[in-house]
Amino acid sequence: LIAGRVSPITIWKNIRELVTAAPRFAEAGNPLGILTDAALVLIHDTIAWVGQTKELPAEYTRQPDIRVIDLGGQVVIPGLIDAHTHLIFAGAREKEFFERLAGVPYMEIAKRGGGILATVRATRAASLDQLIELGRRRLDQALMLGVTTMEAKSGYGLTTPDEIKILEAIAHLEQTHPMTLVPTFMGAHEVPPEFRPGNKAGYIDCLVNEMIPEVARRKLARFCDVFCEEGVFDVRETERILAAGLAAGLTPRLHADEFVPIGGTELAVKMGAASVDHLHVITESGLAALAGSRTVPILLPGTGFYLSLKQHAPARRLLDLGLPVALASDFNPGSCMTQSLPLVMTIACIQMKMTVAEVMLAVTRHAARALGLEHDIGSLEPGKKGDFVSLNIPSLEYFLYHFGVSHVSRVVKRGNLVFEQNAKVNWPEFEPEAAHV
Ligand SMILES: [Zn+2]
Repeated sequence: LIAGRVSPITIWKNIRELVTAAPRFAEAGNPLGILTDAALVLIHDTIAWVGQTKELPAEYTRQPDIRVIDLGGQVVIPGLIDAHTHLIFAGAREKEFFERLAGVPYMEIAKRGGGILATVRATRAASLDQLIELGRRRLDQALMLGVTTMEAKSGYGLTTPDEIKILEAIAHLEQTHPMTLVPTFMGAHEVPPEFRPGNKAGYIDCLVNEMIPEVARRKLARFCDVFCEEGVFDVRETERILAAGLAAGLTPRLHADEFVPIGGTELAVKMGAASVDHLHVITESGLAALAGSRTVPILLPGTGFYLSLKQHAPARRLLDLGLPVALASDFNPGSCMTQSLPLVMTIACIQMKMTVAEVMLAVTRHAARALGLEHDIGSLEPGKKGDFVSLNIPSLEYFLYHFGVSHVSRVVKRGNLVFEQNAKVNWPEFEPEAAHV
């Protein structure tokens, strides 16, 4: 990763396709507002102008201290936004991954000391510095794949000091890593062993009376999330936790309708949640609640893929309702061990029949809205921050078609070049005859 430097005016030109994802440039047949032969002008960290290179205003090109960077015909997209991750945890569960694939039931794995509580044990044993270093490496991996903003949840501590340790690691990384991090408190991820069996109510009291007020007092989270699922937190318990979060200034978001539909989506809408996430088994009543609401549905198809789930979230139903569907990685050590949003985007195309335009909006404009950051990021247009990625590919479709490898050439964050690879190697312009040789 490169320690970049902000230049007052930077012109990025010779962009084959500039995917603005901005409504002002969208038109029939071009929902992403793609500009061809384009350029982008940044003043400090903010976009001042985008358009065709030949129309670059002289007021910028005449400046004495401009820096011009020729992208050699690459494709530029907004920095990708991952609106659902469990970034901070210690330990790894690779043995369990293969046991599960060999058919060992989850409850058997949990009895042997595996599962989420194995991650809780390892995370409690880790120091703040160890969690920061683990997080930094994971953020580097995501940034190199084009991710420039990430939501990050706590939820593997499940005691007040351990949850605060995780949120402090996120706060430290937000200050010291180029990635923008959005912190979410998720003490209601699971009931910890100290309250088992039979004292879930005691843990909820602790969440409501101790953890949430302390997290809010220290300003360590913007959102409060709950795993609303059969056998974890039911709708009534979830409502109590989210209400305590709201009272402390934390906006709700929710894990709902992942395995068994128990009314989580309906509750999310009722509570004014910023997002409701998973939705593999959303019901007609959940769909009706979401329609016309301000809650963003976030789909996590990497998890369904990793768990070999047969049923996919009904993305097409949600899209047909006109909802701003977002996609995220759900990066976590048990059910989706990847930070690769491009991989998740290809899975969304294949398994949920989303179009290229739909998956691009799902990790840019819609993801920004799910995090309340739509005024700053999520599209490339004047006034937005200079978060973008250049790709060494012949067309945007190619980005998702040639999957599982990185096409990233440069990552620009707040106007700074923060990552670069193969910047001089551009997509070869084959003559049709030559291609047959
Ligand atoms: Zn999750």
